[in-house]
Amino acid sequence: MRESWQERFAETPDVLAGPGRRRTIVPVLDFSVGGAEFITMAGPCSVETEHQLLSTAHHVRRAGARVLRGGAFKPRSSPYSFQGLGLEGLKLLAAAGEATGLAIVTEVMSECDVPLVADYADILQIGSRSMENYTLLEEAARTKRPILLKRGMMATIGDLFRSAQIILESGNPNVILCERGIRTFETTLRNTFDAASIALLKQITHLPVIADPSHACGDRGLVPALARIGVAAGADGLLVEVHPNPDDAWSDGDQSLDFAGFDAMMKSLDPFIELRRLQLETHAAVEVPIMQGEG
Ligand code: PEP
Ligand code: MN
Repeated sequence: MRESWQERFAETPDVLAGPGRRRTIVPVLDFSVGGAEFITMAGPCSVETEHQLLSTAHHVRRAGARVLRGGAFKPRSSPYSFQGLGLEGLKLLAAAGEATGLAIVTEVMSECDVPLVADYADILQIGSRSMENYTLLEEAARTKRPILLKRGMMATIGDLFRSAQIILESGNPNVILCERGIRTFETTLRNTFDAASIALLKQITHLPVIADPSHACGDRGLVPALARIGVAAGADGLLVEVHPNPDDAWSDGDQSLDFAGFDAMMKSLDPFIELRRLQLETHAAVEVPIMQGEG
């Protein structure tokens, strides 16, 4: 007989769903991630200017997003690429959050920056390249801010679970898992979107799961299709890159949607989100009960 998921992932028991264990719902401002509401997090890859960020924030808010994303500390593969605005970017994010009512998610790359980023962000993003930086995970966990944990581009599900377990063990129950594409032999697109992992994570863990279709493919023409696949696979939300003028973006322009593209994607998601809602209603009676994470 095949080993159970409990046996397979025995070293990370706190991550797994199981009898008597409730689904985690992560509270953020006036909404939560992992509950009935589907949560869209949208915004530019990098915070560039006040106008770029504010116009994007207002637009994505009107189109239904709850969270504004934007990098102030950027993990760039080249030392010659734009590295982010740092503190100035954090301030712009907080101001855009104030102006729109959107929550803020932004990446923290170094444990030294954790207290600073936690002062400005509602959700701390641990990037793909940092998923196995355990000191950073512990430091971020200690802030008690919700943690958006992105799967490393070369991380297995077991590796992702080890990182999630560290955050949970550090006393922070508010972990959101994010599938953002992995490296495989297929190099035509930026990454390979592992939609099966979303379905699996929703089945065997109690944590919310979101999909990042932007980094998963690197091509804005494919982002809406991947977003729909993510929702159909059971994702509780999306993390999507949006820019007022993607061709001029300082990072990840190729995969960023413009405003019209974002609107069209959101419309096309409606039936998939409705299906998710119906499925939640149907399964609520038989599935694990809901537990509100600690705010
Ligand atoms: C990002 O969200 O802009 C980002 C750098 O993501 P990842 O860590 O998944 O590459
Ligand atoms: Mn990006």
